[in-house]
Amino acid sequence: MLRKIIIEPDPILRKKCKPLESVNDDTRKLMNDMLETMYKAPGIGLAAVQIGILKRIVVIDVSKDKEKKDPIFLVNPEITYRSKKTAVYEEGCLSLPGHFAEIERPAECTTKFINFDGKEKELKAEGLLSTCIQHEVDHLNGVLFIDYLSKLKKDMIIKKLLKHKKEIERIIV
Ligand code: ZN
Repeated sequence: MLRKIIIEPDPILRKKCKPLESVNDDTRKLMNDMLETMYKAPGIGLAAVQIGILKRIVVIDVSKDKEKKDPIFLVNPEITYRSKKTAVYEEGCLSLPGHFAEIERPAECTTKFINFDGKEKELKAEGLLSTCIQHEVDHLNGVLFIDYLSKLKKDMIIKKLLKHKKEIERIIV
């Protein structure tokens, strides 16, 4: 089932998400909905908070080949290692449509998490996947990529998004 993606500015996106006690069929249903919503958008990562659910769940698929999907489900992800070496990617976000910025983050990271089947796993990542994991784990802590920009740039983006939101509301009303 497709879910509605929450757009910044919205106070929900700034909340800290709660860890799950276990992965059950409801969790798996939610993760499948998140994946469907992410593919449709389209995007390469989505956190549950972006569809208004304050739980520590992330779905990611950085596979380039659209035919061969390679989804990763992360429940309660915890980044246990961040490299000193950094990498810069131009990041976007499904909650900040139309806005992109170059963000510097640790190039490599290791993440502990629970997978789709409820098993504890560890994932070492580099490149785009590493950046994507860090971006999504930020969401679980109420952090958006624009928080790494200067106040001026950040305020400008939020102002534009707010203006766009108001325009959409005006059309509906
Ligand atoms: Zn995002």
